Amino acid sequence: MNIRFYNTLSRSVEDFKPIEPGVVRMYHCGPTVYDYVHIGNFISFMLGDLLRRFFEFAGYDVVQVMNITDVGHMTEDDLADGGGDDKMKLAAERLNLDPLQVARHFTDAFVEDAKLLGIKVADDHATHMPHATANIDAMIALIEKLIANGHAYATEDGAVYFDVATFPDYGRLSGNTLDALQSGAGGRVSDEHQAGKKHPADFLLWKADDKHLMKWDSPWGVGYPGWHIECSAMALGTHSALAGKPVEVIDIHTGGEDNIFPHHECEIAQTCGATGNQSFANYWLHQRHLMVEGAKMSKSKGNFYTLRDLVARGVEPAALRYELLRTHYRANTNFTLKGLEDSTKAVARLRAFAAKAPAPDGPVELKLQTPIEQRFAEALADDLNTSAALGELFSWINATPEPTAADVAALRRIDHVLGVLDPPEVSSAVHATGLSDAEVEEKIAQITAARASKDYATSDAVRDELLAAGIEVRLSKDGATWSRKITFD
Ligand SMILES: [Zn+2]
Repeated sequence: MNIRFYNTLSRSVEDFKPIEPGVVRMYHCGPTVYDYVHIGNFISFMLGDLLRRFFEFAGYDVVQVMNITDVGHMTEDDLADGGGDDKMKLAAERLNLDPLQVARHFTDAFVEDAKLLGIKVADDHATHMPHATANIDAMIALIEKLIANGHAYATEDGAVYFDVATFPDYGRLSGNTLDALQSGAGGRVSDEHQAGKKHPADFLLWKADDKHLMKWDSPWGVGYPGWHIECSAMALGTHSALAGKPVEVIDIHTGGEDNIFPHHECEIAQTCGATGNQSFANYWLHQRHLMVEGAKMSKSKGNFYTLRDLVARGVEPAALRYELLRTHYRANTNFTLKGLEDSTKAVARLRAFAAKAPAPDGPVELKLQTPIEQRFAEALADDLNTSAALGELFSWINATPEPTAADVAALRRIDHVLGVLDPPEVSSAVHATGLSDAEVEEKIAQITAARASKDYATSDAVRDELLAAGIEVRLSKDGATWSRKITFD
């Protein structure tokens, strides 16, 4: 089978050749755990999961690493040199909690949501999902290496910057070369003047800040790491640990398209600057943005969904998984509730087919045993063309009105990639926050109406009901406001 991918680095479709025959090493930029993860983030994590499942289906050994960012991700992450404030710090201030508590709560929530969506790396989260705050030493070591190699410098106030002028390949991934940045034709550089910087696009590896809520000692003083260096350190460190030998180049790196610049551009500069290799990852795959009901997702437009919002509306996670998978990752996916209905029907159809024979005991052996498995795999081998693969699958299903046990077994093996036949269990923790915004608003209206007619017993009862569902209601003479309560164990 000829596997090929569109590589953002070469802007062309290339045949896939693993570094080590039969093995694929991948790294995916994971979530910053300052809030519940929305479906626009999940679709880019699904790309990593699809790659893993497809490679396993095609007979490869897959080693997958996805990080958890729990420090250092700045609000102005689209700027070449970063800027703004740490998202974790802001969340801690907003929730009036310790940032590590915030990180733990939203990491647990993320892992739970990812499992519901069938994202397999979440099953191995203890070993395959490194946390930034647990890898500070590795980041410091990498920064020291960059300074020793002449690619980084410390300023008088204890910040360390990557010296972009020392890395001629800067801009190769995104097209935002230093010339383009300087002329204003490329990505933006922060306006604020940072003392001691050699080039406006030099980006932070270590930020000196002894007032930050999360800070560590370093050779340059107290502070915290930059977001980009975290991924370089965790990708190399975790892959080396899992392989039991140094890994300096990986096969595939993925993320959302908004990660291309500056995040991935900077990851390449740092990693190659430290290792001296020409390459960090041989293939860079990026998921297009998810649109929701034809528009960019935003809280103010009311088209903003976390996985939990959708589960609260009764959406089955497997149907959501199917919906997020069925459009090619480089096409614009438009998520709609109508589309979700169609996906629910498609999943039901697959389950009805599978129900024609009992599920075999024991692990499924994947060897592309039948023509439909081969056609399905061939479609995916073409740059993960999921819509073509599903087209093949459903024409076969339509042409197989009386499936045999062998047909059902073939579908079960295909479901190693799809992951929709066996519904995951929805945990009580997800249900506990399980009222949608609209449902809460309805209850708030009941409280307001009851209070207007001085029926305080009803008002109190509805308020207690909301509290039990994790919703806090505050009453004042202007009416009722509410917020979701976050509880910690
Ligand atoms: Zn990253």
